[in-house]
Amino acid sequence: MVNSPYGGRLKVSLDLNNQEKHLDGLKGMVQIEPFIDFYYDSLKIADGSYSPLEGFMGEDEVASVLKRRSLSNGLPWTIPIIFAVDQSQNEKIKEGDQIALLNREQQPYGEMSIESKFKLNKKDIAETVYGTADLKHPNVQDLFEKYGDTAISGKVRIFKEQKLPGGGYEKHPSEIREEFSKKGWKNVVAYQARNPPHVAHEYLQKVSLELPGIDGLFIHLVVGRLKKGDYKADVILNSYDSLIKNYHRSEKTMMASLSITMRYAGPRASIFLAIIRRNYGATHYIIGRDQAGVGSYYEPYAAQKIFEELDVGMVPIRFKDTFYCKKCRGITSETVCPHSMEDRLIISQTKIRELLKTNQEIPQEILRPEIADILSKGDVLNEGN
Ligand SMILES: [Zn+2]
Repeated sequence: MVNSPYGGRLKVSLDLNNQEKHLDGLKGMVQIEPFIDFYYDSLKIADGSYSPLEGFMGEDEVASVLKRRSLSNGLPWTIPIIFAVDQSQNEKIKEGDQIALLNREQQPYGEMSIESKFKLNKKDIAETVYGTADLKHPNVQDLFEKYGDTAISGKVRIFKEQKLPGGGYEKHPSEIREEFSKKGWKNVVAYQARNPPHVAHEYLQKVSLELPGIDGLFIHLVVGRLKKGDYKADVILNSYDSLIKNYHRSEKTMMASLSITMRYAGPRASIFLAIIRRNYGATHYIIGRDQAGVGSYYEPYAAQKIFEELDVGMVPIRFKDTFYCKKCRGITSETVCPHSMEDRLIISQTKIRELLKTNQEIPQEILRPEIADILSKGDVLNEGN
């Protein structure tokens, strides 16, 4: 058996039966197009990725997540899942309403029952979840500049599959759980990524597969809404596809996309991302240096430490900084390499991009040539939203 869903069972409200009838029923309702973050969240609530959540959080639930890092039922939970509305949307909605949700093409795709409306305490959310109210932080900037001031809570039901940045790689938890079971995998180690793989990342994945009892590796790529300067979805997906084909044992490795808005919240994001992977059936979770961080807002190992404080039923696989060491002549880590900083072959992301742009060679010790090839082609960076 793969891991049980968080909270006991998958809470699925993706209802694809009687689609015409359901979509027809949405026509008479107040229609709201959620901001992109909440659009993605509505789909992930519905397919069970965010189990045990069944809808967007109310004021008490948000307060509990901020203050106690748990849902009001006591289960650890670190990221508030809110649906903020702007002034004009707010004016159209009353508590008790059923509203229709519109996708990016203004087509209704689901419904929400409005249980409550409440004013967002943005400063509290920013400082508690992201540890800063600095507008240079991408999520904090969104919170203050793009989110409306009022939030609505309530359950969602989704009636139509949506086209997502992950395309054919996007899978529901039930689908991945079934694939794990078919392969006979019980202990699955999940790898979170939002960037194309360097050889050091491949090393973490392979070392994790070496652990006794691990049956498979699940690479789950966040591709929905990233920050400016991150790679575009197809670049991330193609480079991982190539890595698996060329450098992994394909029978032990599976990849899928996760189209959500990336929360660069360091430790709190790490717990959230681990919970999602548990819902997909994983049992173990890889945490490298500064997972889900941005800038220097978080201590490099804070994301590893939080797993000592909160138990979400995932075994954390923690790694210290990994790099190519010229004396060891291979990828190694702070845990085992005795050599000095000067022996490390370290090239920053920025430098790698610069080399790619000018068609210069990138050392194969750092980046596989197949990946370098994908990254060197054209327009690969996200402009931000
Ligand atoms: Zn060394």
